[in-house]
Amino acid sequence: MNEKRVSIEIIRSGRKTIAMEITRDLRVLVRAPFCVPDSDIERFIKDKASWLDKHLELAKKKIKMIEQQEKAIAKLTTEEIQQLADKALKVIPERAAYYAPVVGVKYGKISIRNQKTRWGSCSSKGNLNFNCLLMLTPPDVIDYVVVHELCHLKEPNHSARFWSEVARVLPDYNSSKEWLKINGSGLIQRLR
Ligand SMILES: [Zn+2]
Repeated sequence: MNEKRVSIEIIRSGRKTIAMEITRDLRVLVRAPFCVPDSDIERFIKDKASWLDKHLELAKKKIKMIEQQEKAIAKLTTEEIQQLADKALKVIPERAAYYAPVVGVKYGKISIRNQKTRWGSCSSKGNLNFNCLLMLTPPDVIDYVVVHELCHLKEPNHSARFWSEVARVLPDYNSSKEWLKINGSGLIQRLR
């Protein structure tokens, strides 16, 4: 048995039984009824010693595994981000030039950024910004984000009119929107 002492927090409440619990941050809680004497709680803790040892060990392993999984999400190197940005500078202006007349707008400058929060944005002057990570998404998703920003030059909000404009240009836009919802945050985690 592990002789290392763990501190155990005792929480009394209106409950009827004594129970032990290990929190996500590895604190050990013993929940007990108000009326139960301290000696009963002590005995309970003693009886639970091997359970506690085993489950603390398991909980630590689980935390370690999660940490390793997070590390395994390959972070992009500065060089890779630069390559994505270079590619985006070729691909995105082309898509914007194609869709702008379809939407019926004119835009200003196009910039590529590596942002952790947005896929695209536009300024009141008609300049457009796009995330270089779009180069890691399917072509339909790139088109959706480009069209989304172009439509904002007409409708600077997410009103029903805005969405019907997006739908007019890309009737299938919803599947791209869903794709981003599902996969977007995983991609963004790859930025340092
Ligand atoms: Zn928008």
